[in-house]
Amino acid sequence: MERDGDPEEQASCSKSPSLSESLDSQESDKDASTDQSEDEMDSTSANTARHMNVKLKGDAYCECYKKGLDKSCKCGEDDTYFEWRWDDGTKSAASFVKDDMREVMFHIDYSCGTAAVRGTLPLKNEQYYWEIKMTTPVYGTDMMVGVCTEHIDLNKCRHMFCSMIGQDSESWGLSYTGMRQHRSIKEQYSSKFGQGSIIGIHLDMWHGTLSFYKNRRPLGVAYTGLHGKILYPIVSSTAARSGMKVIRSCSFQTSLQFMCCQVLRKVIPNHLDVLKVINLPPGFKNFLENNVSWLLQPCPPHIPPRDKGLKRKPKKRTNDGSVQADDMAGPSNCKQMLLK
Ligand SMILES: [Zn+2]
Repeated sequence: MERDGDPEEQASCSKSPSLSESLDSQESDKDASTDQSEDEMDSTSANTARHMNVKLKGDAYCECYKKGLDKSCKCGEDDTYFEWRWDDGTKSAASFVKDDMREVMFHIDYSCGTAAVRGTLPLKNEQYYWEIKMTTPVYGTDMMVGVCTEHIDLNKCRHMFCSMIGQDSESWGLSYTGMRQHRSIKEQYSSKFGQGSIIGIHLDMWHGTLSFYKNRRPLGVAYTGLHGKILYPIVSSTAARSGMKVIRSCSFQTSLQFMCCQVLRKVIPNHLDVLKVINLPPGFKNFLENNVSWLLQPCPPHIPPRDKGLKRKPKKRTNDGSVQADDMAGPSNCKQMLLK
């Protein structure tokens, strides 16, 4: 039986996992917490880790988690207005929503499968940006973020440990192992993330693209071709006592001005502040500063996982037509989102 929590906290589950999962779990059911940084752990290690119940504590947005201050950490949680929260009405079993409906706790006692919850707001035509903070250790078969259509059954994997988001054509997901998944096709996309990581998701329904951010650094476009769909934010987890919190959820209209800013962000090196590089009339500069500084601010370059002789993630274009663009930037502060 695969275990997705502290071994001492597991209770018997009603359904046996698949043979492969059983074999995986036989490798080890050790529950060793680690504090490895992004560069200390490659994707193979991460894949091994998820079957070893290794709790990933590296890659936090702040230092609180290293100092044992994870309970009191509020870093990055500056927003006070949220356009959507987790939907208590459609959530799967083993999901518990709290803290103003923004934090979801999965498998509060023990885990017997995969739990999932989706956001309250249907995402249709605008630009959407939200951030999920990993508030507990990240481990187990999978913990994922992404988007789904209304046709996904959030309870379908309740007795199964799996990478639920992206299993079929109704969802698009990113795993904590750094693999993205759609139609059960998994591809290396980013480095892993762990407790304290802030995962940003930018859904651009004008261009039909889905991009992710880790700790407010752009990771590039993960999926294209999402035009015309009605999507919902979704997260899933197989790990006992795991939690994820929405710390930002906002939207704004797509305008020519916004698209110009996107292009500027793309052509100007990431480490530079666009507003300082471009010479603009003071009034207009102030306007942009007050409205889209979150898009134009400097973003530290994304450092890809260190190559240790492993298969590298595909560059630029993949089988499903999605593209890699490590230099693409996106929203990181929605407070001034007043383009409407
Ligand atoms: Zn903190």
